[in-house]
Amino acid sequence: MRFAERVFALQGESAFDVLSKVQRMEREGRDVVSFAIGEPDFDTPEHIKAAGIRAIEENHTHYTPSAGILPLREAVARYVGRTRGIDVSPEEVVVTPGAKPILFCGILCCVNPGDEVLTPSPGFPTYESVIRYAGGVPVPLPFVEEKNFSFDPETFRRLVTPKTRMVLLNFPHNPTGGVASREDLEAVAAIAREKDLWVLSDEIYREMSYEGDVPSIASLPGMKERTIILDGFSKTYAMTGWRLGFAVLPRELAAHVTKLVTNSVSCTAAFVQTAGIAALEGPQDAARSMVAEYRARRDLLCDALATLPGVVCRKPRGAFYAYVNVTEACRRLGVSDSRAFQEKLLEEAGVAVLSRNCFGSRTAGEDQEYVRFCYATSRERIAEGLRRIREFLER
Ligand code: PMP
Repeated sequence: MRFAERVFALQGESAFDVLSKVQRMEREGRDVVSFAIGEPDFDTPEHIKAAGIRAIEENHTHYTPSAGILPLREAVARYVGRTRGIDVSPEEVVVTPGAKPILFCGILCCVNPGDEVLTPSPGFPTYESVIRYAGGVPVPLPFVEEKNFSFDPETFRRLVTPKTRMVLLNFPHNPTGGVASREDLEAVAAIAREKDLWVLSDEIYREMSYEGDVPSIASLPGMKERTIILDGFSKTYAMTGWRLGFAVLPRELAAHVTKLVTNSVSCTAAFVQTAGIAALEGPQDAARSMVAEYRARRDLLCDALATLPGVVCRKPRGAFYAYVNVTEACRRLGVSDSRAFQEKLLEEAGVAVLSRNCFGSRTAGEDQEYVRFCYATSRERIAEGLRRIREFLER
């Protein structure tokens, strides 16, 4: 069989490999506490489901404009305008099936072969994969523990070259839960304006913030016209399976992204878009109580991990992840790295986490070992997982 070369640039997500291993163990009768896959354990709030069902009954079952139905784009414009403190018009909104297509379309529309794209390291693995698919060169931007898992502006400046075309940011950050300060973002904004760079700001975890508002780079002077805000419904409204996301981006770029949508998927499912309006404009108490629950789980998990031998857990400021330093635990257990730690923990203690290597290329000089815990699981399961980890580390 002969394949186009570009398919070899695409990578899978190793999170899904761990998931299939967990499922295999479960089929064999083992009980696994999984902190692996990053998705809300809650179901979609009732009023959103009802809006989707009603929309099907009312025959919202046809094609829609590729950029999305106007009432949803208006609702998104209002929501993003209000939360980021910027003016957004519906022509600056494109709706897609999930937020992931925004990465794909944004990068394909802005990055030429050979262009460099700064991308968080560790980071959501799809970033590097799509940059490579577009022929671009991912340049890892370290998100470091000492900066509470943001980046160092000085390091950022050093990594920008004449070939840099785009900077990818993600706050709150997957896998660390890090949030950048306004000053860090200002450093990026200054260079982006000076060197005419695009910024793709993945803000999908924006509403999951435990220490105040998460600043958006799009709010800084002169940045809205060079920023693609990626956001969506998967996390905030526990809607991963509905596939609904959106971008807020400059009008001219919106037109190009819309053409990509037309040529690939035509549009996002009509009734799903109607449910999205209910999510944004309806009552927010369900979304708020999910965040309150994630916060309680974060405290439960991190406070307990902090008492375990060989692990260091900084309390994450957002998302539903804790990125835990297990360098010393690896040494004590005699395992070579976080991947071996992940495997040993799964096999011997029945606890699934994801190791550093699930989150893109390592940076030069990176010498600490980490694993990611997703705490979007019940307090009972978290407590059981912690009991097993304690036994595993203390024996
Ligand atoms: N960005 C980040 C950082 C994510 O973690 C995810 C989901 N895992 C996405 C984007 C994609 O979200 P969606 O499911 O809406 O495509």
